[in-house]
Amino acid sequence: MVKFPYFFDKAVICLRLIDRFLDLVYPPKCIFCRRLLERSENGICRACSLSLPPDESPERKSKFFDSCTSCYEYSGVVRESLLRFKFKQASHYADIYGKFLAVRLFEHGIENYDLVTWVPVSRRRRRKRGYDQAELLARSVARELSLPIAATLEKFVDNPPQSHKATPAERQANVRGVYRIVDADAVKNKQILLIDDIVTTGATLSECGCVLALAGAASVHCGTFAATSLKLTKQVK
Ligand SMILES: [Zn+2]
Repeated sequence: MVKFPYFFDKAVICLRLIDRFLDLVYPPKCIFCRRLLERSENGICRACSLSLPPDESPERKSKFFDSCTSCYEYSGVVRESLLRFKFKQASHYADIYGKFLAVRLFEHGIENYDLVTWVPVSRRRRRKRGYDQAELLARSVARELSLPIAATLEKFVDNPPQSHKATPAERQANVRGVYRIVDADAVKNKQILLIDDIVTTGATLSECGCVLALAGAASVHCGTFAATSLKLTKQVK
């Protein structure tokens, strides 16, 4: 049996004590409803794990991606949680979101993916926010599925947010030509798993799928944590 040095045992005990202390000062809360968690709960409370609204919208398809898998409908506590993830520095939510999304993607068929990548934010927005939320989610998914990950796209035009665009046609026009490939070698002949936090009409995923296809990707499958109900939007072709 491997015998760890004395100081290693001490360090582990110290880390556990720090962890307990932080739990007392900042008790862990459910990332959705923000209720205090029981010790047996990890990130999400039992009530939320039984009641989050599943994504039941019709399957999104486009010329430039083959499928899109999403976990939950973008409403209620899911929406509030994602807003904190994007705008209130709750970047650690990516670990829990990634676990949920990885399960859904695994069910869809892990043999469909060679490489994980993500829909990037612009350099300016990343600097302002301090992180790229889709990258954190993609890294969590790649870790859970033991798949390689690479930054393959760049958003080089800082367009207005998609949420400011009402119709599918406006959303499509708003993202046209704003992404470019940065690592074509990584993409060539690969089955790409493209990750984003939310899908609405699919215009952004379609635009990124187009850039990846032009760079030689064999196929593009998409995964998002949440999906806006398609009852409110028209499907993008
Ligand atoms: Zn909860």
